[in-house]
Amino acid sequence: MIEVKGLSKTYGNKPAVRDVSFKVERGDILGFLGPNGAGKSTTMKMITGFLQPTAGTAIVGGHDVTRDPVAVKRQVGYLPESAPSYGEMTVHEFLLFIAEARGFRGANRLPPVDRAIRLTHLESVRHQTIETLSKGYKQRVGFAQALLHDPAVLILDEPTDGLDPNQKNEVRALIKELATEKAVVLSTHILEEVGAICNRIILISEGRVVVDETPAEFQARQ
Ligand code: ADP
Ligand code: ADP
Repeated sequence: MIEVKGLSKTYGNKPAVRDVSFKVERGDILGFLGPNGAGKSTTMKMITGFLQPTAGTAIVGGHDVTRDPVAVKRQVGYLPESAPSYGEMTVHEFLLFIAEARGFRGANRLPPVDRAIRLTHLESVRHQTIETLSKGYKQRVGFAQALLHDPAVLILDEPTDGLDPNQKNEVRALIKELATEKAVVLSTHILEEVGAICNRIILISEGRVVVDETPAEFQARQ
């Protein structure tokens, strides 16, 4: 689903990502681990069609980011690190609004909204104002938004940041459920996060992949 080959990005003359390669299949949860400034966001932006590489490429859901970034964006669901402000909108209203922004019109907005609500187990709070929900539920609204256009690939940026232990476990269980149908990349600087749910870990440092292995292999070396 994602095949990254020799991906590099230089800002001015400063290399941010250097010759990064990896593959992610459906069912995989790849932990993309590295300290701040390592090149995680730059890599994620390139594999989601938001930033053109200086060299190399990525094929995402069958589309090449350097040739057709628009098609790539349609294959990708992105959960940003911090939630937007939802104002007074209910879960249902917000998702209708996002569906509209993604090109669904009128009654055609309902099937994707219903589906996203079902996948993220938000039925019981559908008509509640998002700002009144717990952080765990708010994070599920973020997932629902990312899932609206039924992407093949999910990119999650620090998905359990700021949640309490129970909420973290709920979000992790949800990620595992979703991964049965999708390729998931979880970008984080928290080691604990990748050990908990990922089946592969890539450690990136100064723009380079320095480790690519299973969590068990990774932990054995610590
Ligand atoms: P991470 O997400 O791991 O914190 P980033 O991909 O944001 O890392 O950044 C990698 C490197 O690229 C850092 O040195 C950062 O300062 C630099 N960088 C990121 N974005 C830009 C930009 N738009 N212009 C110039 N340098 C940037
Ligand atoms: P566009 O105007 O090209 O559609 P937007 O910034 O409106 O781009 O974002 C469209 C979708 O892409 C939204 O779902 C948003 O969450 C997601 N997105 C935003 N930033 C990124 C990023 N760095 N990587 C991947 N997806 C992103």
